[in-house]
Amino acid sequence: MLVWEEEVRSTPAIAPAAIAPQLDKAARADAAAAVNTRRVNVADKRIINGQTDVNQLVPFKYKWAWEKYLASCANHWMPQEVNMSRDIALWKDPNGLTEDERRIVKRNLGFFVTADSLAANNIVLGTYRHITAPECRQFLLRQAFEEAIHTHAYQYIVESLGLDEGEIFNAYHEVDAIRAKDEFLIPFIDAIMDPAFATGTPENDQTLLKSLIVFACLMEGLFFYVGFTQILALGRQNKMTGAAEQYQYILRDESMHCNFGIDLINQIKLENPHLWTPQFKAEIRALFERAVDLEYRYAEDTMPRGVLGMNASMFKGYLRYIANRRATQIGLEALFPNEENPFPWMSEMIDLKKERNFFETRVIDYQSGGALSWD
Ligand code: FE
Repeated sequence: MLVWEEEVRSTPAIAPAAIAPQLDKAARADAAAAVNTRRVNVADKRIINGQTDVNQLVPFKYKWAWEKYLASCANHWMPQEVNMSRDIALWKDPNGLTEDERRIVKRNLGFFVTADSLAANNIVLGTYRHITAPECRQFLLRQAFEEAIHTHAYQYIVESLGLDEGEIFNAYHEVDAIRAKDEFLIPFIDAIMDPAFATGTPENDQTLLKSLIVFACLMEGLFFYVGFTQILALGRQNKMTGAAEQYQYILRDESMHCNFGIDLINQIKLENPHLWTPQFKAEIRALFERAVDLEYRYAEDTMPRGVLGMNASMFKGYLRYIANRRATQIGLEALFPNEENPFPWMSEMIDLKKERNFFETRVIDYQSGGALSWD
């Protein structure tokens, strides 16, 4: 079922009879009309260029956004709940990991330590102010915090392993395959962060839509996947299990971000069909092709040889498979027909149940009222 096709009925109007009985009939009719003009009518809500009050979360129109917000809150986790002692011992053991495995860990952190910061800035300084549906803003606020948790998680791993912070945090300047991915993304972030940018013309609405597609489908939906797969493959071999556990939680969060982004994009398309022109679609397809290429280059850089039963060329198929999925999710044709998933175990990882491992290692209880003191 396509959630954005839900029927939306108008909010029932206030009847004059329900207004201040001491007033005469004409005054009651005027007062009711004033209330009805000011109150948010659910049918008037729009994802972009809406004219309704963005401070009024209800009446709900975009229930899918609210439900994703609730689901994200239910998945809450914090990095320091994950025990890193086995990872630290393995990392310090000269025979614990091969050089190729160490390279994977460092390249991974090199991309991710700054990627989620880019993501957070894009949401807070870019996307948020252009979205006029409060249900969607509510999700974006939660998402922004999750991006902060992810940056925290990568920092926590870097610190736990005693890695060279200067090297890791500068990788996006200093490692070509990482810099190329960020240089691809940054113009789309900058375009909507520009204080002079406003939606409201077909051209600018397309700029925003393009930025949302690049961000959800290509950054969160594609650029994260080589890195996630590598660390989870290490975890499957019982190596770097603390890092792998954190990556599992991050992957679960990111797949929610990606799905929210796709619902948002599809709802904007539905409300603004004039934006989805053949020329625009061709432009988006070209961006998908470029992103697959860049992520493949990153796979080659991180895996110059076969490692963990994987090699770069296996990722060619995987990236094409994911790109097809993202394209069809937003109503484009598959770019690379008939690609199969070479890593079916990744799908299980996305469907992670919170209970698995989680409560054994959990040290903080969010529900605890004992931490509060009113004296
Ligand atoms: Fe994200």
